[in-house]
Amino acid sequence: MAHHARAFDREILLSFWKIHILHHASERPVYGQWIAQELREHGYDISPGTLYPLLDRMQRQGWLRSRQSDPGNPRSRRDYRLTAEGRSTLARVRRQVNELHQEVVGRSPGRGSSASPTRQRESQRTKPARSTRSSRGNRPAQRPR
Ligand SMILES: [Zn+2]
Repeated sequence: MAHHARAFDREILLSFWKIHILHHASERPVYGQWIAQELREHGYDISPGTLYPLLDRMQRQGWLRSRQSDPGNPRSRRDYRLTAEGRSTLARVRRQVNELHQEVVGRSPGRGSSASPTRQRESQRTKPARSTRSSRGNRPAQRPR
């Protein structure tokens, strides 16, 4: 079962996580701990051993750049921002996610008009999962690693 879970993570969820990261890094600088917490709110459990290599790869792709929050301290928090290339990647992803969503989840004339069990479950959470413009100004609580 763990094997299947890992295959699902690798083959499917990894892309979702990258999209979350692109999206959030487009709004403000983000850091590993924050991303892990954000993904946890979506029900994803991503380990540091997965997250940090992922962030490294995204940097190597040229989508993110990072720097230490305290330049004098190599152990300080690393903040990631979206590059111009990351921004155009995100724009492409948005179009394609939209198309994918319409095809796979369904074309509904109005938002929320087709209430699927998934949709209902999601709406019980504290924030709207589906809005691209999340008005979430507050970051998840910082927790020590
Ligand atoms: Zn997110």
